[in-house]
Amino acid sequence: MGVSDANVEAPYDLYIGGKWTAAADGGRFETENPATEEPIAEVAEATADDVERAVGAAREAFPAWRDTAPDERGRIVARIGQLVRDHRDELAALESLDQGKPVSQAKSDMEGAARYFEYYAGAADKLEGRSVPVGPDQVDFTLREPYGVSAQITPWNFPGNLFARGVAPALVAGNAAVVKPAEQTPLSSLRLAELCAQAGVPDGVVNVVTGFGDPAGAALVSHPDVDTITFTGSVPTGQAIMKQAAENVTPVTLELGGKNPAVVFPDADLDEAADWIAKAIFTNAGQVCSAADRVVVHESVRDPLVERLVERAERYELGPGREDLDMGPLASADQFEKVRSYVALGREEGATLATGGTAPDREGYFVEPTVFTDVESDMRIAQEEIFGPVLTVLSVADETEALAVANDVEFGLVAGVFTADVRRAHRFARRLEAGNVYVNKWFGDTNQTPFGGYKKSGIGREKGLEALDSYLQTKNVAVNLAEGSGTDLPGA
Ligand code: ADP
Ligand code: MG
Repeated sequence: MGVSDANVEAPYDLYIGGKWTAAADGGRFETENPATEEPIAEVAEATADDVERAVGAAREAFPAWRDTAPDERGRIVARIGQLVRDHRDELAALESLDQGKPVSQAKSDMEGAARYFEYYAGAADKLEGRSVPVGPDQVDFTLREPYGVSAQITPWNFPGNLFARGVAPALVAGNAAVVKPAEQTPLSSLRLAELCAQAGVPDGVVNVVTGFGDPAGAALVSHPDVDTITFTGSVPTGQAIMKQAAENVTPVTLELGGKNPAVVFPDADLDEAADWIAKAIFTNAGQVCSAADRVVVHESVRDPLVERLVERAERYELGPGREDLDMGPLASADQFEKVRSYVALGREEGATLATGGTAPDREGYFVEPTVFTDVESDMRIAQEEIFGPVLTVLSVADETEALAVANDVEFGLVAGVFTADVRRAHRFARRLEAGNVYVNKWFGDTNQTPFGGYKKSGIGREKGLEALDSYLQTKNVAVNLAEGSGTDLPGA
């Protein structure tokens, strides 16, 4: 059964070749509401056979989609954007229920999802190659061609938004897609696939296989008929996927974790910096790869900054997504346990708990906004991605130390600097090891800017025109214009 013709409790099927279909072995799993720990729906659990069917459907649909006029592909993708916009509230309610986030944050995610389709729709008829002046006897030019079947493995923190981030550029570039959403949050992707069909995406061009990393995700990324892989998630899973992809030499775009420094200097506006940092660590309960999870503050303003951060943290009201307070629960029991164990670890390592650290006495996977001070760079809470509402504060004596500490992690997704000194801001923008640098702000607020990681934070770029590079391969065509070719062969 599909999504729109069902209430939320109805069992959800896989979406393959434009049809709703049960898993080959009839298997299903439950997705739950993390605010109540209650199951909300049963979802088909894809097996390797189902993945085989989905990749087959995408392969079959690919040539006609590739050969659809680019402006027509653009119009179809623009219609998806409009439908996502029209259904924003419904999608947000579904996302909030399944993932836990406050409904207004889910609405903003869906607004962003609509924007991905709109933004890439406009690029559909501008995917041009170039001509290369190699001399009078040849015409040489490049073609930008789709790969074919794009596998998309998405995580549970922004499921609907990341569906759009990958599927929109894949489609305008002429690829067919098979999406495997995270098992914790499968519902919004199924609904989005339905909207794609309603917009006129031909059967088989977008497929969704719900299920677990193993077997469904693993079967998808190791499938020889998958031509390119886009993955967002943890470093270990990204590494596993890259190893599997190596078997078939399938290209990967990986957006992995972060441990992102927010560097604060004494000349910064501390109220503004604290506002940005609180938003940047507590939005989506900190389950954001680009969260500001490490504050690196000059020791002379450490106390006034911490005071401001604690004051903001303590203002957060927690509740189920549908109540639309400031923060929802963590998305799953596993994540709840993981975050709680990092809080315990921080205490063991000798950091000072300035606020939070406890789970309120209520059902659901809630953890209070938490701030650790006296954090040293070699502590595990300063090095490992916690993926929860846990801020670590490190203090430094000068600019040189600030830069060294900021870069002292294996990640390099985003970084920020708060300062009124334009020269220092630019020095940091160049020297911070991260794919995105924010100056006196946090979070990319547009789909137009490229996003991705340095170091272990990933390979390739999402968003912006750069994302299209993951979905297009370059072919060079050389045409001989000279007469009497081959005459210099020996004996000619
Ligand atoms: P987490 O561990 O926080 O759940 P992951 O990075 O493991 O995050 O999960 C992100 C996505 O990767 C999910 O859709 C998950 O099902 C999928 N996944 C997990 N393991 C694999 C794997 N070996 N191959 C392909 N996909 C996987
Ligand atoms: Mg869920």
